[in-house]
Amino acid sequence: MKLVKSLIILSIAAALAGCGGDDSSNSNSGNNGDINTGGDGGGNQNGAFGITPWDLTKIKLELQKVAITDGKTADICGSGDNITVETSHFVASFHYDLPTNNIDNLKDATRMTEVALAELIEHTGLSLTEDLDISQKWTVCYDSSQTGQGTAYIDKFEFSPTSVDPNSSRFTSGYDLAKHELFHTFKMQLIDELAFLRMPRWFTESTAELFTGATFGNLTTTTLNDFVDTTKESPFNVQTWYDEQEFSSIHPQYTNPYSIYLESLAYLGAHGLTNEGIIQLIRDSKNSSNSNEDFSSFDKALSVLENSMTLPSSYTELRVPSTYKHQIGEWADATTYRQDFTPKAGYGEYIDLYIESLDGAYSNDGALVTSDQLHYEMRGVLANATYKVYANTGSASFGPITVVVANGKLGHLDFTDAPEFNMD
Ligand SMILES: [Zn+2]
Repeated sequence: MKLVKSLIILSIAAALAGCGGDDSSNSNSGNNGDINTGGDGGGNQNGAFGITPWDLTKIKLELQKVAITDGKTADICGSGDNITVETSHFVASFHYDLPTNNIDNLKDATRMTEVALAELIEHTGLSLTEDLDISQKWTVCYDSSQTGQGTAYIDKFEFSPTSVDPNSSRFTSGYDLAKHELFHTFKMQLIDELAFLRMPRWFTESTAELFTGATFGNLTTTTLNDFVDTTKESPFNVQTWYDEQEFSSIHPQYTNPYSIYLESLAYLGAHGLTNEGIIQLIRDSKNSSNSNEDFSSFDKALSVLENSMTLPSSYTELRVPSTYKHQIGEWADATTYRQDFTPKAGYGEYIDLYIESLDGAYSNDGALVTSDQLHYEMRGVLANATYKVYANTGSASFGPITVVVANGKLGHLDFTDAPEFNMD
């Protein structure tokens, strides 16, 4: 079965978190079920893998505290209009001269960035004075065209959030984009812009997703195997942007492979990699090679770290597709289960499900409808709460049906009477 990015995911869940304008990710805010996380969400706790992102209530509260002033006149982003605003750590302007430019939105985008910085500082445990140099304010170039794309530099980032309005359902994806790009800036600050390219792409993007708070622990063996079978690559062997382009240009369903990278990182997390270990790996990836893409420092640092981990196969071995499939498959199978599914008849083959908590804080697009169309396979334990569930064929979506989870699982899903979901 092929994993197809379904309409509903693209319409209501995708938070495009691109870099260089060429990539994007499905960055779902929310917590994973089965892997050790940052616990109460406070700080970079010793031994933790992953973070608990701030919830919307906290973010809104922090947004209100951000002081913003009109900046000095300067064309810092090249749009030509000389409008700038400033917060404590950022000076911001419009990236392009667009009819959608609006000074209030620019202010909202800059407030969002300031809060995203505070949240990332808490999750990474990095110091704004000792680890990062923000003595000169970093630049934000706000693109008001809402593409969901962004690009990070060592003291600047450009981004086009889908919304800057905290009351919009699209706000979280825009806020997550700010965190994703800022985490790239953190990496460049730790080791410089050139050395940034000396970390493999799967690691660069997966760690940005991890510290943004994207969901992991929910991709099934089928999904992970499909990636390897289709691309003929182990995710751990996607080292450059060009590697990624090679398969995503032929297999558009893998234009957004970040969830696969993140799940691969989570495999390392389940075998002893911690948030602190990740920051150390970034620091150790610096080298003095003249080659832009010399991964030897990263490889060496990870092989040292492996001594304190419990990996059955080394990272080097996991870069071989067959080894990756075997090891990750065994790991994912242990937390994967099958339950009953009743389709709404007459609409062709169902492919996957989209599951979202009522408050939108948790989302999961990793559950697959099996080829017999009578079951679905899913991974990870759900927190006891009420969820909205959608079922997707290749061309249509149905739902939501509302399911109350009391024992960690959704149970039988009956779509017989579910409405067709129309994204308009
Ligand atoms: Zn990125």
